[in-house]
Amino acid sequence: MSNVRNTIIIGSGPAGLTAAIYTARASLEPLVIEGEPSSSSDQPGGQLMLTTEVENFPGFPEGIMGPDLMINFRAQAERFGAEFITEKVTKVDFSSRPFKVWIRDTEYSANSIIVATGAQSLMLDLPKETELIGHGVSTCATCDGFFFRGQEIVVVGGGDSAVEEATFLTKFASKVHLIVRRDALRASRIMQDRAIANEKIEIHWNSKVSELHGEQSLSGVTLTDTVTGATSPLAVTGLFIAIGHKPNTAIFQSVLNMEDSGYLMTRDGSTYTDIEGIFACGDVQDHTYRQAITAAGSGCMAALDCERWLEHQH
Ligand code: NDP
Repeated sequence: MSNVRNTIIIGSGPAGLTAAIYTARASLEPLVIEGEPSSSSDQPGGQLMLTTEVENFPGFPEGIMGPDLMINFRAQAERFGAEFITEKVTKVDFSSRPFKVWIRDTEYSANSIIVATGAQSLMLDLPKETELIGHGVSTCATCDGFFFRGQEIVVVGGGDSAVEEATFLTKFASKVHLIVRRDALRASRIMQDRAIANEKIEIHWNSKVSELHGEQSLSGVTLTDTVTGATSPLAVTGLFIAIGHKPNTAIFQSVLNMEDSGYLMTRDGSTYTDIEGIFACGDVQDHTYRQAITAAGSGCMAALDCERWLEHQH
């Protein structure tokens, strides 16, 4: 029988590491299974590991690099005794207590689990795309729009996110090209009307970004007409990809309640999932705000919910 822990935290973005800081300070000796670097766009620390400058995280008036911020989060959790395993959970069994999680053949068990596995932005899967993240390519207009003041940029997608981001980005950019792969937008009517009426937005229908140009930073893209196949260059310094997100919940399928889109469901105003003793925080259960600070806030909520629940059990 393996040693039963008070709590295991799965995930190490702002939500998981904030939960680790709080549970460690509450003497719960958390074990954080932080993930492992499996590709340049999938590594411990979450989405901030893919950003450059973060200017909107409170407490850093001069800004801070995303990876540095996550190194600080982790060091703070370690200082209070959080233990880390740099691997990915491969299987879970939450059907009875203690709950069990596996990393391949090794079993770990705990009286409570905090799920903070985050979400990923869907990407175009083009060469250079990952290398240019933070150097012209972005998946977050709220985070990076400010850096494109007076510049010409493209936004890819036709849903509410893309249209909202394109409209938001007109505050900064001199011109926003919205690249839509069909002859219609998926976004709600009111958002569409707002974008179509905006003089700074040019919509390219039946169009896709097929190539990225630039070495150190983005200098342009190639557009391909999805009907005729004709290509044309477009000189832009920014590319915002807004084609949707995917929560990292594959291992929780048929285990935890989730929406059709895969986001975990939590009880209103809390981080309780449908299984007592399992808590979820951060982007894995939030498709609305998706900010580092809101993820961190929800990690704090999960730690407090977990601590109080464990106290009640004992
Ligand atoms: P959606 O799934 O709604 O839209 C994705 C868009 O990206 C679609 O237009 C889709 O095209 C396009 N797309 C997908 N893959 C590719 C690709 N490989 N290349 C080019 N284009 C592609 O995602 P959103 O993130 O926009 O929205 C998610 C949910 O959040 C929705 O329910 C939305 O309503 C909601 N939301 C609401 C907001 C609000 O109300 N203020 C703001 C933001 C989101 P196609 O249409 O051809 O499939």
